[in-house]
Amino acid sequence: MDEQLLRTISAAREDVLARIAAAAKSAGRDPASVRLVAVSKVQPPDRIEAMWAAGQRVFGENRVQEARERWSARREAGEDFELRLIGPLQTNKAREAVGFFDAIETLDRPKLAGALADAAAKLGRAPRLMVQVNTGEEDQKAGVFPREADAFIASVRTDYGLTPEGLMCIPPADEPAGPHFALLAKIAARNGLDQLSMGMSADFETGVMFGATSVRVGSALFGERKAH
Ligand SMILES: *Cc1c(COP(=O)(O)O)cnc(C)c1O
Repeated sequence: MDEQLLRTISAAREDVLARIAAAAKSAGRDPASVRLVAVSKVQPPDRIEAMWAAGQRVFGENRVQEARERWSARREAGEDFELRLIGPLQTNKAREAVGFFDAIETLDRPKLAGALADAAAKLGRAPRLMVQVNTGEEDQKAGVFPREADAFIASVRTDYGLTPEGLMCIPPADEPAGPHFALLAKIAARNGLDQLSMGMSADFETGVMFGATSVRVGSALFGERKAH
């Protein structure tokens, strides 16, 4: 273990945790009600080792294959940690994802709901689920549009027998995040969902202010990513 790297990564984690706690307190919330998801996609193994050594046990990954390469050994060793899929999921990888992840945050279409339900039945394993909402209605982004969200959530429950626990969003990069987080919280509340995955390195404190129960933080914890 590179001691210098461990110090740097530990300090970054402590800083992010302190900022989450401060944002929670100023919003009148219990800091323990916000979970830090360390987004480890693309990060080199030594940084992930350091984050693990710093005590972090909840990680987010964008791609099924990459996640398996990075985390299978720890899974097989019986280590206790939580892995969340936060990137788009292709239907033909649903089974692999259900078998590997503890939570899938990117449920956003009926076909995927069907594939996840089938896989859960076959594997006897049901990761927690979140519905991704495309709050900015951006063409290039995954997620159901806000006006479709209520019907989609109802269909996920009744047609596919799935029980999503909450909602996730990625606001447009060029807009203030607050209104998007507020919209996500409103959609969740009217659908009886109490988990909100919102906020990244640039805006996790805003996420906490608007009720995030988990924030997905990559570069502020690990340092900048190299391009995929
Ligand atoms: C990469 C990614 C993050 C983390 O982004 P940072 O800006 O590095 O914190 C969070 N959520 C999703 C869905 C991502 O793809």
